[in-house]
Amino acid sequence: MTKTSSSEGASPRSKDKTGFALQLVKWQRKSGRHDLPWQKVLAPYRVWVSEIMLQQTQVVTVISYFERFMNRFPNVQTLANAHLDEVLGLWSGLGYYSRARNLHRCAQQVLEMHGAEFPKDFETLQTLPGIGPSTAAAIASICFKERVPILDGNVKRVLCRLKGFDADLSISKHHKELWEVALKELPTAKADMPTYTQGIMDLGATICTPKNPKCSECPVQKICDANLKGNPLSYPVKSKRIKRTAQSLWMVCIENTKKEIFLEQRSAKGIWAGLYCFPTFSNEALCDQFINSLGAKNVHFEPVITHALTHKELSLHVVKLSGFSKQKLDNLFSKTLQNVGHWMSQEHWSGAGIPAPIRKVLIAMAAL
Ligand code: SF4
Repeated sequence: MTKTSSSEGASPRSKDKTGFALQLVKWQRKSGRHDLPWQKVLAPYRVWVSEIMLQQTQVVTVISYFERFMNRFPNVQTLANAHLDEVLGLWSGLGYYSRARNLHRCAQQVLEMHGAEFPKDFETLQTLPGIGPSTAAAIASICFKERVPILDGNVKRVLCRLKGFDADLSISKHHKELWEVALKELPTAKADMPTYTQGIMDLGATICTPKNPKCSECPVQKICDANLKGNPLSYPVKSKRIKRTAQSLWMVCIENTKKEIFLEQRSAKGIWAGLYCFPTFSNEALCDQFINSLGAKNVHFEPVITHALTHKELSLHVVKLSGFSKQKLDNLFSKTLQNVGHWMSQEHWSGAGIPAPIRKVLIAMAAL
């Protein structure tokens, strides 16, 4: 991917007058979103956290997570100095936990290598963990007015429809071609970059939506190729869809006489890396063996819980056991379980990093 020269920002706006950028900037000022929590102060730290949270997650879900995150970690230093467990705890329920781990690593790198100040340019931002071209472009264009385009899912859809770009985006060279298209559409004035970037995100999120684009309300309807041809839903073209494999896991939810639940911290690799989970087994026989070692009899599994990850469709078979003495089981677990585990009260597990389906089981148990 190439980068435009920032010096182009000094050129006049004549190119924009009837074009996409100017219309989008005008529309954003009048009708775009202005009250999202990360827009109150356009600081790189806040834009960065919001961009990472918004990857794969809807704005309405992100808002409360963002506010909680900012209350606890108001700046890059507090985030860098926190324990990863606490970061994962605040992320719990947002999914795609590698984002939280990278966020933590990135904060530490910004603190150690950049004196707690985010780099101010697109290229250097991309050297940080978890910051790809689109996130780097969001920070650089919104906070530093650099002329670089973001290219997240919403923006790709808008540009493909606007330009009638029908090349298959599952092929990486076409992705690069779309990046070139995005570069050409940027406003000529650097001063317009924050509004333009926010505008194209707003347009994709509120007007040019995946299934029901509101073309009659769109500020660029007269210059939009897909609208003029009447086929917005044909874009973007993506032939390869993610294939999910099926996987079953067997889990034992154990409660002691003090109503604490035993949760193991999963290893640093694989699904739910670093999160807390019930003792988990890859097949029923291993799970039965573990249940027998506890001396539990006549156990039965709860109805199967299905949970979709990006590449996997999980079927979770959970058995609930209660009334165990803590001391007795601690001895046994030290010999039988591979990962580090803790007995957690409701107060403790409420703030821990726990996968969404496991949290649901815990909440249901606590309500009994
Ligand atoms: Fe999207 Fe329709 Fe606007 Fe074109 S006119 S950008 S398809 S909402």
